[in-house]
Amino acid sequence: MQTFTTIAELRAALAPHRLDDRTIGLVPTMGYLHVGHMELARRALADNDIVVATIFVNPLQFGANEDLARYPRDLARDQAMLEAAGVHYLFAPGVADMYPRPMETVVDVPTLGSELEGSVRPGHFAGVATVVTKLFNIAGPDRAYFGEKDYQQLAIIRRMVADLAQPLEVIGVPTVREADGLACSSRNVYLSAEERAAAAIVPRALDEAERLVAAGETDAKRLEAAVTAFIAGEPLAKPEVVAIRDPDTLGEIASVGDRPVLLLLFVRFGSTKLLDNRVIGPKNAKKVA
Ligand code: AMP
Repeated sequence: MQTFTTIAELRAALAPHRLDDRTIGLVPTMGYLHVGHMELARRALADNDIVVATIFVNPLQFGANEDLARYPRDLARDQAMLEAAGVHYLFAPGVADMYPRPMETVVDVPTLGSELEGSVRPGHFAGVATVVTKLFNIAGPDRAYFGEKDYQQLAIIRRMVADLAQPLEVIGVPTVREADGLACSSRNVYLSAEERAAAAIVPRALDEAERLVAAGETDAKRLEAAVTAFIAGEPLAKPEVVAIRDPDTLGEIASVGDRPVLLLLFVRFGSTKLLDNRVIGPKNAKKVA
């Protein structure tokens, strides 16, 4: 695997592959890789001739009070993991490589980007859409891989690609979880031992919602209230977003049980915010064989 830090080097390495009609898969990350990231890489390797992983802790998507400076980093370990997986190129630019001048141009998906996680992280999704567009322009991938764990991010990127006719396919990859169900995340290392144990409440809340729907709950607001109370039963957990939404538009919906709904959770443990979600099917879905 070759690692590049400049746009010009990566473009030069990819140009001959494009001339030879090899397909390119892109796996954008912020590094400090875990098995969830590696699942994206595995899918990309299965689908494409050439795979480019990127590691860039993007300042544009961090708010003033967020964890940009302390975001975990371990480039040597990440390189070893990607190399062992068979990834062909790693693009790991510095901030000055990506943004030699302050960015004047912004890609924004303002409606999808201002609700849910966007409501507590103003500007976050414009930062994501802008850097992802720039990475697409740099690498020119045929396919790009994103985790369903960041459901809203995936929805925003799908919308952006459609709206701007960006010439690639977006592939969503199911969430990879730890043994107790907690979604793998680079930010899990921030959790104290007590918080890590308490964080199992997040996937359990998804199970609880599914149970309530299967038991006949049909009202979205009541379900949100029940899930909020369930999470708040864990003293270390502070539910910030508990939302039942349309899985496609992320718009509010009133009733559950008759069609698939998205449950999106954003839960704080101390200063660490954990994200999770599940699409919950109609209560009779499993009986259809
Ligand atoms: P990040 O480095 O946190 O920005 O994540 C990079 C990519 O990996 C994003 O598309 C995430 O949605 C995806 N990802 C993060 N955690 C997981 C996970 N547990 N399972 C699957 N994909 C994930």
